[in-house]
Amino acid sequence: MKVLVINAGSSSLKYQLYDMRDESVLASGRVERIGMDSSIVTHEPVDKPEVRNVSEILDHVTAVKRVIDMLTNPEFGAISHLNEIEAVGHRVVHGGEAFSSSVLVTQEVKLEIRRLFDLAPLHNPAHMMGISAVETNLPDVPQAVVFDTAFHQTMPNTSYLYPIPTVLYRRHKIRRYGFHGTSHSYVSAQAANYLQKPLESIKMITCHIGNGASCAAILDGKSFDTSMGMTPLEGLMMGTRSGDIDPAIVPFVMNKEELTLNEVNSMLNKHSGMLAISGISSDMREVTEAMVDGDKNAKLAFDMYAYRVKKYIGAYAAAMNGVDTIVFTAGVGENSVALRKAICEGISFLGIELDDARNEQRRKDCREITKEGSRVKVLVVPTNEELLIARDTYNLVKQSRTS
Ligand code: AMP
Repeated sequence: MKVLVINAGSSSLKYQLYDMRDESVLASGRVERIGMDSSIVTHEPVDKPEVRNVSEILDHVTAVKRVIDMLTNPEFGAISHLNEIEAVGHRVVHGGEAFSSSVLVTQEVKLEIRRLFDLAPLHNPAHMMGISAVETNLPDVPQAVVFDTAFHQTMPNTSYLYPIPTVLYRRHKIRRYGFHGTSHSYVSAQAANYLQKPLESIKMITCHIGNGASCAAILDGKSFDTSMGMTPLEGLMMGTRSGDIDPAIVPFVMNKEELTLNEVNSMLNKHSGMLAISGISSDMREVTEAMVDGDKNAKLAFDMYAYRVKKYIGAYAAAMNGVDTIVFTAGVGENSVALRKAICEGISFLGIELDDARNEQRRKDCREITKEGSRVKVLVVPTNEELLIARDTYNLVKQSRTS
């Protein structure tokens, strides 16, 4: 079965076509600047050069049509006819409390995703546009949705409730949901597989640290706690997001600086984090380079980033009454030798013995970076959210055919 994975944003759409017989990627690409007259489609076939096309793409229906045109192109396409696409899987950021696993798209599911627009106003409406666009272009193809929040629906109420008036939870569903669930789920399963132990038997902390960043405590094979909350702003310091701050700062700053709600929201989401502290960049590579060149603010940003990851690891080790395995993933977690070292050396009391040579290896596979015999094992596990979406979609469609 060939499965098309789609991640639709408001003005962009990323895609990957999988052959599920061996889970190989046949082609991938992205459509950018949807809604503008110079939209760009970048198509990356396997073993053939990248193709770029600039044209007017005013909506998601046209964007999906262009994707299908690329995939079926006789010269650089990956399939000869669109009916080879047997299923489509979508990334959906917010599944609220309604979805604790991936599901096939039905009228009811679409209604529920719409009900959640309030909780993810920047994401869920765009995902719905992607789903409708596929319906228009491939009306007979089953679709599935895979939610960023679903994996964390196993959190106990001690983890997911905020200590604020409970009427706010009842009326508006204000609670912690957590995000990056697809990644935490994927890397925790990969790590267990690497260790050749059942996931249920490992107290694990997964650190998805990239531009956005979150940690998850995984107990009995399930998400027990995670650092992002009702929105992806809570928790760790990120590229441009503040992470945890005293909530009283919001009204205080609004008053002192005469900021509107939108402005303060933008400050915390887009102008904070590493960018604000370093004054240089939100990008860990650039911050690290500046730090190595002696820039004090870059060093402070790096140290604060590492410090906050350390604090969450410590908190989750306490929450689970121990930790056996720590996993690093995403752009920073998979690539930053310096940051992994700074974090691990600062929490050696947990029983972590970092192996510098292993940490410094630049490999793309799942691997251990602690010494043989280290009580807590630290792994680097490349994440692959698209593959998990393809797998879930494949399994749901296969099940629906047999039932
Ligand atoms: P992501 O959001 O997962 O794509 O991660 C993006 C982040 O990963 C950016 O801050 C990048 O600077 C960082 N990153 C990617 N490659 C490296 C690298 N080799 N060393 C340090 N940071 C990296």
